Amino acid sequence: MALFRRALEKLTRGLSRTRHRFLDSLKSLLAGKALSESTLDDLEALLIQADMGVATALRIREDLEAAAREGRINRGDDVIEFLKAELKEYWPPSDRAVHFAASGPTVILVAGINGSGKTTSVAKLAWHLKAAGRKVCLAAADTFRAAAVEQLTIWADRIGVDLIKGSGTDPAAVVFDACDAARARGADVLLVDTAGRLHTQDHLMRELTKIRDVVARKIDGAPHEVLLVLDATTGQNAINQARAFAEAIDVTGIFLAKLDGTAKGGIVVAIRNEINLPVKFIGIGETYEDVEPFDPDRFVEALLS
Ligand code: GDP
Ligand code: MG
Repeated sequence: MALFRRALEKLTRGLSRTRHRFLDSLKSLLAGKALSESTLDDLEALLIQADMGVATALRIREDLEAAAREGRINRGDDVIEFLKAELKEYWPPSDRAVHFAASGPTVILVAGINGSGKTTSVAKLAWHLKAAGRKVCLAAADTFRAAAVEQLTIWADRIGVDLIKGSGTDPAAVVFDACDAARARGADVLLVDTAGRLHTQDHLMRELTKIRDVVARKIDGAPHEVLLVLDATTGQNAINQARAFAEAIDVTGIFLAKLDGTAKGGIVVAIRNEINLPVKFIGIGETYEDVEPFDPDRFVEALLS
């Protein structure tokens, strides 16, 4: 219970921008009001402003109208509890767990555009998985910039996990070696950091596919996860990126970074409703501890309480 409370506090802090903007506006819109057409119009606008997406906003409005017709809610003050209950139903539990290999190293590929938060998110995952008792290895497969390898080296040292880096500029070669090293060292999880790329850059997307093929040849069932890192502050853009990446490579889940940096945390809801990919982790700060497995109940409570 104490653990749950602490985690909720961390999340509440991480979501404070969204809460301040969204929840405060919601409360002042609804307090003491009847559920009139115009209140519902304003509510719909608020949901859209919070990046929940037009389709989601409309759906919530229609559900509210239905609940009002059936007499389940009457006043504006009831809406927040209604919203909480409704939002908590949006995420089926089945799809959020990390898929681990039955035996041998689990390989998690981390991809996304430049600056979305990939390297930081790899560090967070390393910390999180290590804290859960798993032996973690990192592969520095962003070979484009020397600084990228340095950045990951610093994280690996701080967190106390192994890092495999290559000598050349071929990320597939780094990953090839990293798979051997992970197995030789008895690692439970190999996290692969990759260079940023746009889905429109064909050669870079092919490189990503090549990395995936290498790990698939080296380790049974790998990659077990392909996590796409999205920057929550980029709103609808993030949704478009997710669609495009998912077409190019089999993305298994989203790591939604920088939720602390946006007043539009509703993007989590839009991702659920507009693209069929589970958010598995959220990033809520710049240190490696600022990570949480996505938990809808906790998320909704932190957002709306
Ligand atoms: P990459 O290019 O995708 O590898 O992105 P980086 O991991 O280098 O991160 C880019 C910037 O985003 C850095 O300044 C990070 O500190 C910052 N960043 C990453 N994740 C988060 C997060 O969850 N919250 C905040 N506030 N900043 C983040
Ligand atoms: Mg990076």
